[in-house]
Amino acid sequence: MIPFEFVTARSFEAAAQLLAESRRGDVLLKAGGIDVVDRLKEGLDRPKVILNIRGLRPARADAVRKGDNGLTIHALATLTEINENEAVRTDYPAVAAGTRKPATPQVRNVASLAGNLCQKPRCWYYRSLDFRCLKKGGDRCYAVNGDNRYHAVLGAGACHIVAPSSAAPSLMACGAMLRIGRYVDGKLSERTLPIADFYRVPSNPQDDEFQLGHDELILDVTLPQSAAGRHSAYVELKEKQSFDWAMASCAVNLNERAAPRIVLGAVAPIPWRLPKVEQLVAGQKLTDTLIAEARRAAIADARPMTNNGYKVTLAGAVLEHALRAADEGA
Ligand SMILES: Cc1cc2nc3c(=O)[nH]c(=O)nc-3n(C[C@H](O)[C@H](O)[C@H](O)COP(=O)(O)OP(=O)(O)OC[C@H]3O[C@@H](n4cnc5c(N)ncnc54)[C@H](O)[C@@H]3O)c2cc1C
Ligand code: SF4
Repeated sequence: MIPFEFVTARSFEAAAQLLAESRRGDVLLKAGGIDVVDRLKEGLDRPKVILNIRGLRPARADAVRKGDNGLTIHALATLTEINENEAVRTDYPAVAAGTRKPATPQVRNVASLAGNLCQKPRCWYYRSLDFRCLKKGGDRCYAVNGDNRYHAVLGAGACHIVAPSSAAPSLMACGAMLRIGRYVDGKLSERTLPIADFYRVPSNPQDDEFQLGHDELILDVTLPQSAAGRHSAYVELKEKQSFDWAMASCAVNLNERAAPRIVLGAVAPIPWRLPKVEQLVAGQKLTDTLIAEARRAAIADARPMTNNGYKVTLAGAVLEHALRAADEGA
């Protein structure tokens, strides 16, 4: 057991101030704590301070607010509060599904949106104290010659992790904007960032897969009005239907027919947007021939490893299901 101080934040500003005054790695932000507790047990993080922001979550009625620009979801809204929200279900069915499918009801009742977006990858070598792989500063990726059945088939560099968040692909397909806070000059300053720019394949495996300074925190997430409508969908395939992460997933938004957004999940180090497939289907009627072409284009760049070739087939399948579901409408 590694001793740490447990600090409860009274506001986002106070939390940001403590982060600003600390060195990277010394303070670990905790929302629902589901991934944080795992990481402490796995020895991935050894913070001096756990900064608990869970108490900053709003009343259920304020977890999702409708404004002129769309729907704004509080960073600490739970996945259950999001997927049970009527406006999310009606206008952003992909997001409702992306926050209804993960894990179990017990996890979704506690897990926050921001925590879900910032959870660390599930690679079992990374999560095990017994392996010091590239991502932990070691000299090799154990997945290359090891058990890589759940690893990336698209976009991997030296490290072959897959992005674990089920919420991220659907938020990306719906053009979500993140509001991010940081303590500067005695107050909380903010920036906004499209979620599509939040995730980036790290050039150094030890870096995070998302663009967030150690002194920054997510305040909320806005789904733009332009992406609203019945024609979005999120589909995922798992080995078991509960208590598990996806093997492949896909979010599609066809509400703006001329500018569709299509994102694969669980197959690449970050939620994997498919610009070539988007161009292919933009403004087109979705015939069987076009869907077959889209499937081929989606996986054209796939580079499976020794045990995960099946994921290439699954990626095509989830894409087809999500395209058809979004086309039909919720
Ligand atoms: C059995 C099981 C199955 C699961 N299956 C799935 C699944 O299918 N799909 C899926 O997506 N997830 C799955 N999960 C993971 C779970 O959904 C996440 O661990 C959870 O969503 C994390 O949210 P949290 O609020 O508990 O985050 P925490 O554990 O509190 O934090 C996670 C990370 O986010 C950071 N963080 C938290 N809040 C903020 C903020 N406001 N700003 C910046 N950084 C922040 C923390 O510092 C930490 O690094 C599963 C978990 C379990 C136990
Ligand atoms: S995939 Fe990445 S995290 Fe997993 S063993 Fe390889 S380097 Fe480590």
